[in-house]
Order: sequence, then C-alpha cells, then structure tokens
Amino acid sequence: MRLVVVGGVAAGLSAASRARRIDPSLEIVVLEKGERISYGACGLPYLIEGQAKSIEQLTVYKPEFFERERDIRIRTRAEVTAIHHGRREVVLADGDRVKYDRLVWAAGARPRKPPEYKDNPRAFVLHTDRDAERLQAFLNEKRPQTAMVIGGGYIGLEMAGVLRARGLRVTLCQDTTDLLNREDAFLTGALLQHLHRCGIEVRMNTRAPSEPGTDLVLCAAGLQPNTAIPAEAGIEIGRTGAIRTNERTETNLSGVFAAGDCAETAHIVSGRPVWVPLGTTANKMGRVAGANAAGRRERFPGIAGTSIVRIGGLGVALTGFSELQARREGFSPAVARIHGPDKPKYFFGHGVQVELVADRSSRRLVGGCIVGEEGVLGRINVIATALAGRLSVEDFGNVDLGYAPPYATAMDPLLVAAQQLLRLLD
Ligand code: FAD
Repeated sequence: MRLVVVGGVAAGLSAASRARRIDPSLEIVVLEKGERISYGACGLPYLIEGQAKSIEQLTVYKPEFFERERDIRIRTRAEVTAIHHGRREVVLADGDRVKYDRLVWAAGARPRKPPEYKDNPRAFVLHTDRDAERLQAFLNEKRPQTAMVIGGGYIGLEMAGVLRARGLRVTLCQDTTDLLNREDAFLTGALLQHLHRCGIEVRMNTRAPSEPGTDLVLCAAGLQPNTAIPAEAGIEIGRTGAIRTNERTETNLSGVFAAGDCAETAHIVSGRPVWVPLGTTANKMGRVAGANAAGRRERFPGIAGTSIVRIGGLGVALTGFSELQARREGFSPAVARIHGPDKPKYFFGHGVQVELVADRSSRRLVGGCIVGEEGVLGRINVIATALAGRLSVEDFGNVDLGYAPPYATAMDPLLVAAQQLLRLLD
C-alpha cells in the first residue's frame, strides 16, 4: 500500500508523519516541487526583519530526517503536473509517473501578483523561501529607500511594519475600505491610527498605481489555492474556490484527500464551507488527512479562522466573525467593545481593546477581536475556545480566568466585555 503526498510543507508533512505513526508498513512518498521542505513560511517576515538569521533557522526538518527517522521518502524538485486517478498515478514534470493507493493533495496556495508588476524587477511577493531570498538580496544590495506595499491583509500589514522598521518610507495601498479582511470599521480605524503613528502612509480604497514610483513594491494582494491539477482530474472545487473536502478531509475521489491552503473546510460557528489559508490549520488538517489516508476515520471539526499578527509592535488577533460578517452569515449580532488596562499601572499595563460579537437569538458568542501590545494571543485563544465549545455569553462571562497583578487585572478585559454584551442582550 503506497501513500503519495503532494506538497512538502505544513499540511503535507503533517499528513505523512501521522500516517507513518499509524501504519508502520505503509510506503510513503512525498513529492515537493521546490528544493526545500518543512520550513515555516510564517517566519519569512521575521527573516526580512532580522529576527531570524537564515532560512535554515526557519527549517524544521531536513529530508534526511524524514528518511532516517520516519521512513518517509522525500523527493524534492518533483513537480506533479497531472493526476490520473483511473490508473492511480501522478505524472511528474520530468515525465516520471508515481503510482498511489492513497493520495493527499497538500500543494498549498500561490500569491496573486497583479499583472502590471509581473516583469517589474523591483516588485516582489513573499510566499516561499526563494521569494524571501530574492527580497532580502534586493534590500541588502540595492538599499531601497521607499516601498509600496499592495494589500492590507495580514502579510501586507506585517511587511509594512517590517520594512518600516528597516528604515524605508512605506506606503500601503488597499483597494477596499477594510483592513485584515475583517469588514470591521472599528478595527480598521484603530489600525489606521496605529499605522499613522508608525509613520506608514496608508491609501485606502485605492488601486495601486501600475508605476508606483517607489524603489520597491511588495505585492501582498491575496492568494489563490493550487487547484488546477486536481480540478483537471475531476476533484471537486467548492464555492470558496478551494478543494471541497468533507469532515474527514476526503475529496469526492475515493482514496484522495486534501488539506491545508489548497482545501476548504467548515467554519465551526456557521457550519458553512470556508477557505482561510493559515499554517495552524494546515498542520491540524494535514494530521487528520494523514490519519485517514492510513485507514483511520478521524474528523476535522473545522476552524474559527483564528489568526494573530504583529504590526509595528501591536498585536491584532481575530476569531470567528465580525459584526458585519455575522449578519451576513444569518446571525442577529450584538457587539461589545471595550478598551481597558491589561495590567495594573504599577506593572506598566498597556491598553487592550476587546471586541466580542454574539448572536442575539441563541445568545452564543460568534466572534471576537483583541488589539493590544501584550496578552493578545492568550485572550484570543480563550475566545476561540469559547467558540469551539459553543459557549453562551453568560457562560463565557463566568469563566474562571486567572489573575495576578503582573499578568492581568482582577476583572479581565474579556469578562468586562462579556458583561457589557450581556447588558446588550437583555
Ligand atoms: P504550503 O506551505 O504552500 O506548501 C505547499 C507545498 O506544495 C509548497 O512547498 C509547494 O512548492 C508544493 N507544491 C505546489 N504545487 C506542487 C506540485 N504541483 N507538485 C509538487 N509540489 C507542489 N499562517 C499562520 O497560521 N500564522 C502566520 O503567522 C502566518 N504567517 C505567514 C507569513 C507569510 C509571509 C506567509 C507566506 C504565510 C504565512 N502563514 C501564516 C500561512 C502559512 O505559511 C500557510 O498557511 C502554510 O504554509 C500552508 O501550508 P500548506 O502545507 O497547506 O501549503
């Protein structure tokens, strides 16, 4: 029995490793078109910033590790160009064919580079190790003074902060009225103020000019899932544009699974299909795909879209839906927003902003957002846990959160926001 995994990063290697743990007799082959495997793309901005010193520091495991320790065969520079499911084989760019009994498609997504910047030698994307090396070399050799960042999603915002920290004059262009794709005017307003304080010029609702007149252009204009090859093979693509999977990460072709940035999954709050390409999802979904490809029947429950990003020292974390998104999903939302200290003054507390969204009819929490300098991850994870547990606002407001002055206030800002939300619901 042979399992073939296409894609050698988060989802693919999680799948391969899990399958090996479950079935020591399985033959496992990972096909990766690039030269490196198992590196954390999430660390690339920090490589450009200087926090990480080399791509090697972002690399979790080398191919030899998988071969030696896990008996998983890794083939790099092995690009799959077709799936012939009838013959249970994939075709590689060099003409080689690899037979499979089970297949996990974990080929990720690719960045959209607006066509007008395609041949511009000063225009970059940041998606792979090679992209980071090219951008780093340009920054070090050409010493650009000015940069335009196209796109106000998390990579655009993160990179605007990083380039600013490297001393460039940065302009960020976003073609809608919204930052971080959250459709939250309040959050966008807070971010705009912060970006202004960081010295980053922002042009909202503006298409980036085709000749921006800056030394460097960074395109962070969104992603597209890598679905062309599976679609050609008859694998169904969902409404989100990514590969349709069921809760066992199966596609419509028997024995073929999909996970990570190329696949959609269910939203745990609405139950509807969503596509939120994130590393944390890729790892968890890949594990389930690997388990099921090895014969188990495990369930991937879906995601709340929990994410966190640091922009010029400020942490911004999201989970579930914003008020507007919740309304569009058919909820009847109520929203509480508070701004309070995250610690007592004598522990140099900072301000933290908490937004909680609840559904009026079920009184369930459906989303939240935290903005602050510290404690952002812990608080968003509490809200994400509440979403997973389908907690009501009452139950959330009674959670026994910890307190000591070095870490929090006696009444955590989360609980203060929950009290405010309860008043709105009553
Ligand atoms: P990928 O990591 O894209 O891996 C897919 C692999 O498949 C690639 O190596 C590709 O070369 C290979 N492949 C594609 N097509 C073929 C083919 N035809 N044949 C063979 N191989 C193929 N996520 C977070 O959760 N938190 C963060 O802070 C965060 N920060 C990020 C910052 C940046 C700059 C970037 C780019 C991403 C960030 N992410 C973050 C997202 C995260 O990196 C991705 O969600 C994650 O890497 C997805 O894993 P994956 O295995 O699905 O896809």
